Amino acid sequence: MSLLVVGSVAFDCLESPYGKVERALGGAATYFAVAASHFTHVNLVAIVGDDFTSKDAEIFRGRTIDIEGLERATGKTFFWSGRYSENLNERITLVTDLNVFADFKPKLPEKYRRSKHVFLANIAPDLQRDVLQQVTNRPKIVALDTMNYWIERTNAELRETLKHVDILMINDFETRQLSSEHNLLRAAKHIFKMGPSTLVVKRGEYGAMMVDKRGVFCVPAFPLEEPHDPTGAGDSFAGGFMGYLASAGKANDAALRRAMVYGSVLGSFAVEKFGLDRLRSLKRNEIHARARHFAKLTQFSL
Ligand code: AMP
Repeated sequence: MSLLVVGSVAFDCLESPYGKVERALGGAATYFAVAASHFTHVNLVAIVGDDFTSKDAEIFRGRTIDIEGLERATGKTFFWSGRYSENLNERITLVTDLNVFADFKPKLPEKYRRSKHVFLANIAPDLQRDVLQQVTNRPKIVALDTMNYWIERTNAELRETLKHVDILMINDFETRQLSSEHNLLRAAKHIFKMGPSTLVVKRGEYGAMMVDKRGVFCVPAFPLEEPHDPTGAGDSFAGGFMGYLASAGKANDAALRRAMVYGSVLGSFAVEKFGLDRLRSLKRNEIHARARHFAKLTQFSL
């Protein structure tokens, strides 16, 4: 089943203790689409500037990613720059230049409008809502990611968009910031009042936690000896999660739990190299092998 995503396509400047890349292709929608395309067909909605070359667009070619909804405009592509702490657990944003995203008015191609699964990746909340409103029938699942930039600057718009969302997928800092609650279970209760019925908290090296009315489910992060760059791990997690759900065509508890594992699998590959480098070469058999490894990692008897 097809999966629609709107979010940033960007150039990133990344600094981690492992090195620096001045201008890597990135963006939330880019990581998401590449990760999800291992499971299903992805319809991409975003905008790039005239500095985005056909070589940059190669990342989408040869995959099941439709880029009819990738608009090209005069001006510069979204630019973001971030720096990670020594242990990679914290990052500071140095620059966010919205550039062509500042005036983006998305118009969904006709064939995107019937998408049954929608992921509103990190971007302005009113833009996320605008795209959702152009989907003709109520999708089966609408999931959303956001970050401190939007929680701080566009809180009212974000609250409005959240009313139409089933699954909120954010990191632990953002969960605390959005809910004003430190405890994640109490935070989930707050967030359920805003609209979503499921909260997925991405916790970096501590794994991910899903909370819904049935209870809590946790997966660890895959233990890696040398993670290099956490950029895009959250978006790749979301791509694995939503890509799996769209391919499974159901969202019962068992499917959601498997989606958590596939999310963690894709997130773990994303951090192995800088930017999109590891995801570019990733093969489906590697994904399934790591999912089996996850099953082994978490198996025990009582
Ligand atoms: P993640 O590490 O999963 O949080 O996502 C990192 C990606 O998000 C980078 O490739 C950035 O280009 C993109 N990004 C950073 N800040 C923003 C923002 N305010 N809105 C949309 N995308 C952003």
